[in-house]
Amino acid sequence: MKGNSIMSTSVESFAELGLSEALLKALTEIGYETPSPIQAQCIPILLDGHDLLGMAQTGTGKTAAFALPLMEQIDVKLMKPQALILTPTRELAIQVAEALQSYAKHLPGFHVLPIYGGQSYTIQLKQLARGAHVVVGTPGRVMDHLERKTLNLDNLKTLVLDEADEMLRMGFIDDVEWILEHTPEQHQTALFSATMPEQIRRVAQKYLVEPREIKIKAATATVAAIRQVYWQVSGMHKLDALTRILEVEDDFDAAIIFVRTKTATVELADKLNARGYAAAALNGDLNQQMRERVIDQLKSGALDIVIATDVAARGIDVPRVSHVVNYDIPYDTEAYVHRIGRTGRAGRNGNAILFVAPREIRMLRTIERATRQPIAPLTLPSRADVTNKRVTDFKAKVAEVISTEGLDFFANIVSQLCEEQDVGAEEVAAALALMAQQGKPLQIAGEDPAPARPFARDERRPSPFTERDPRKPRQEDRGGDRPRFEDRPRRDDRPARPAPAGDMVRYRIDVGREHGVEVRDIVGAIANEAGIESRFIGRIGLYEESSTVELPAGMPAEAANALKRTRIRGVPINLRPDEGRPSGNFGAERRFAGGERKFDGDRKFRKKNFDR
Ligand code: AMP
Repeated sequence: MKGNSIMSTSVESFAELGLSEALLKALTEIGYETPSPIQAQCIPILLDGHDLLGMAQTGTGKTAAFALPLMEQIDVKLMKPQALILTPTRELAIQVAEALQSYAKHLPGFHVLPIYGGQSYTIQLKQLARGAHVVVGTPGRVMDHLERKTLNLDNLKTLVLDEADEMLRMGFIDDVEWILEHTPEQHQTALFSATMPEQIRRVAQKYLVEPREIKIKAATATVAAIRQVYWQVSGMHKLDALTRILEVEDDFDAAIIFVRTKTATVELADKLNARGYAAAALNGDLNQQMRERVIDQLKSGALDIVIATDVAARGIDVPRVSHVVNYDIPYDTEAYVHRIGRTGRAGRNGNAILFVAPREIRMLRTIERATRQPIAPLTLPSRADVTNKRVTDFKAKVAEVISTEGLDFFANIVSQLCEEQDVGAEEVAAALALMAQQGKPLQIAGEDPAPARPFARDERRPSPFTERDPRKPRQEDRGGDRPRFEDRPRRDDRPARPAPAGDMVRYRIDVGREHGVEVRDIVGAIANEAGIESRFIGRIGLYEESSTVELPAGMPAEAANALKRTRIRGVPINLRPDEGRPSGNFGAERRFAGGERKFDGDRKFRKKNFDR
């Protein structure tokens, strides 16, 4: 395999990569300014027709890295699947399909179809019959359709395995191999994986033809003088969090805020201006003169905040920049190091704040490794913190006026007011203080969100649920909702907690500890293949040769059938109602409640299992 590591990208525009006008136009409209490193490396290789092995995690821009080249190969007039993308979860399938559809804005007639376990076959069959140019699916369901001959890959040009290590972790690797065995020989294959465990490397060796290998090499760097913290995005909009943080930060003077798209630079600048900050956007649309003007204004203090994309902020050297905020997480560690290097200049202290969505945790850890420094979690300032800070600043301002200004004229007015209103000086002062707030009240209203649980170290390999959760709202935004089963009511009508034991049915499956199965494999497979949200999956008893799992009563035949065919770690699980005694020693059990996965070493349950 030919190795290739990305240290930096000299590619400035998507046009340089040889993409067609229709895609370039869409990218401009979406606001992508420059290719991310993984895109700069992968797109030419894939356009050249090579197979590719990419080590990249979520947040690097890998979706566009494989999507754009495969879209170039599509013959829109031919309504047959010409590309297949396999993803470990339905959420990712939907997300990838959405990304492709957005890039296809100027490709009339282009159609991408997500297919995944848990969705009704009737609907999928109809959609497949209608035709699609690209199919994005989870392995189990894709395999099913291939077996039923409802998905025909005779015209396949590109096959992508996305998040291959996750597919391995969730026990889908045999299905993936089955699919690879059953696709026509002549096609291009791209495999992306955040890590490269032996089994994935083996699959790559077996099914990829002379692949080019791409990985984002972590740039190690010393960033000692900079305080680095992260905020786990949750419970509050990023913009509100940003303004709270900036307001309370002690040594705040000026900030550069990094976002991904030029559209976002402008939007955020507008919003910050509306909130009273002197902010401006700095992006690739600005000519040299305008760019210099913005930087000069930041230097002189006419601006306090500049919202920039990576390229536009390259090389900025403004000593008063006390803070860098990574509003959107950078694509790689090198970009991170460049970004935070915009603060702590000329021997001053610098602060770097990183916003991290739960699914981006891997990137956070990668950055920590590359910079060889831990990044501490930041507790979002509370309303009281903000109020205290405002009051302290207010007092300082009043004290300054007392010590520097001649106040006789005003003292006289206060005396008059005291006399006329028959009140004390304190009351007059309080009224003046209230008036002095000038649209920025000292006390802020509203609720504090529940504090986010900081990432624990052992969550480096998060479960599909915790990792995928943030993708759920995307679906809800689109007005759709994930049914528990196909015919369940909408989320709003559903109980927030799993039904009590009476409404649960216990099933047995033919995989256990001796197959190397863990509770999370079972939850992952069931959640994916039957479309049951993890919070509705009840207790799981893990034994040597088999396991039990509690699922809501009233499972439709379709979901039950899907589960009968489901494999975990390559073993068919053969789900059936549990009637017998446990077939081995009790291993572990887990209970899920209220959407949170908790270990429950509940003795009652353990005993119950043995007593049966
Ligand atoms: P991914 O790693 O593919 O999940 O992408 C992470 C995020 O980066 C998505 O929100 C993309 O829309 C965004 N993104 C990907 N490539 C670019 C780019 N070249 N410029 C700006 N944003 C991008």
